Amino acid sequence: MPEQTIDVVVLGAGIVGVSAAFAARQRGMSVVLVDRREPGSETSYGNAGIISSSSVTPLNNPSLWKSLPKYLTNRHAALRWNPLWAARNASWIVRFLADASPSRLKPRADALRGLIGASGKLHREWIVQAGAGHRLRETGSLKAWRTDSVETAKQEQALLADYGIASELLDRQAISAIEPDIVPVYKVGLLHSESASVDSPGSVVKAYAQMFASAGGIIRPSEVTAIAPEGDGWRVSLSSGEISARHVVVALGPWSADLLRPLGYRVPLAVERGYHREFRPNPSRSLRRPIYDVDGCFFVTPMERGIRVSSGVELTDRDAPSSFAQIEQVVPLAREVVEFGDPVGEVWRGARPTLPDSLPMIGPAPRHRGLWLGFGNQHIGFTTGPATGAAIAAMIDGAPAPYDVAPFAPSRYI
Ligand SMILES: Cc1cc2nc3c(=O)[nH]c(=O)nc-3n(C[C@H](O)[C@H](O)[C@H](O)COP(=O)(O)OP(=O)(O)OC[C@H]3O[C@@H](n4cnc5c(N)ncnc54)[C@H](O)[C@@H]3O)c2cc1C
Repeated sequence: MPEQTIDVVVLGAGIVGVSAAFAARQRGMSVVLVDRREPGSETSYGNAGIISSSSVTPLNNPSLWKSLPKYLTNRHAALRWNPLWAARNASWIVRFLADASPSRLKPRADALRGLIGASGKLHREWIVQAGAGHRLRETGSLKAWRTDSVETAKQEQALLADYGIASELLDRQAISAIEPDIVPVYKVGLLHSESASVDSPGSVVKAYAQMFASAGGIIRPSEVTAIAPEGDGWRVSLSSGEISARHVVVALGPWSADLLRPLGYRVPLAVERGYHREFRPNPSRSLRRPIYDVDGCFFVTPMERGIRVSSGVELTDRDAPSSFAQIEQVVPLAREVVEFGDPVGEVWRGARPTLPDSLPMIGPAPRHRGLWLGFGNQHIGFTTGPATGAAIAAMIDGAPAPYDVAPFAPSRYI
């Protein structure tokens, strides 16, 4: 493919970038996908592998106010925060909290419902097409309470029902019926029965990237150093040369804001860091689906390599040294539920890219033609990557997006 004929360069081969690249290729465009690492090696590698049907309520919702006092202690497993980071990012925090008001819940939940619904369909189609269907488990995802929280679970069930999302309320016995090998510590469960999970999110993204390459897309391993307008299109500077194209898609996850600053865009993108550790499974005590332990504030997911325990949110600089306090706090709690053996590999750290309203940016950059933004998918980017990418490919093609993208317009912030 001669470089001057390239329609689209996609920067970043996480789930969002790979999806945008594949969807653009499906529409017949010539596409180059650039990443300094192998596809699916960063945030899209280390997540809990859930393709969620139910995450329509962003983390900054009205219930956050009630939890805030316990979070301020900076000892809670759900949230740790660096005071220096907080001082430097006070305006992001204020905007994030402002969106936790009751009036801001419904519009954002409506928006996420569209994105999540469209993504679930694409994942289920693509994972088979990519030859990775064996990685998909249609066993739902279980949210579980150790305390007597039937009313809380019922409220969540009612909210999901308003959005047409099915869930099942479970008592201790019903939980044991679907997860016979876990220790019966949970009194109440809500089975998100329309959610699915995968046993290796990184491998799924690699399979989608391979599917893109098989469809005639080009994967170029290189560091992206800058982007600049050039004639009717864009010049992308790489550590290994340059590419010119008519359109450029920034899908660099938690690194996305860096590249946009020289163009005059100050994107209020923060990161909610998180950790995971994997452990050798006990083959006679298996886990059928991801469980979110509400009281312990961790996810435990059966993965290809073992049992993956994932931690809550750490608010600090993206590249600050790791702090293992949260993951060390939750591993013993996970052992109370699932029997597993020694660790496999080291602790992994990742950074959920988050804008103050917890909605991603999906669409055109307001002051540059041919520049498209797809990032900020927070806690549910593995779920929402496919429809984020597909909507961008549709917009580049001048076609309607498969759901309402207006709430995700980058112009709301830049
Ligand atoms: C602990 C944890 C658990 C999670 N669990 C879930 C879950 O169960 N379900 C769910 O839906 N979501 C989950 N998420 C969120 C999800 O993982 C992210 O939202 C999603 O992976 C973001 O994808 P992305 O493509 O935007 O970014 P990434 O996957 O980070 O991709 C960005 C890519 O850009 C590349 N890049 C960056 N800078 C450059 C450069 N200068 N040059 C070249 N390449 C560059 C990187 O190498 C990387 O490959 C979780 C996140 C964490 C941290």
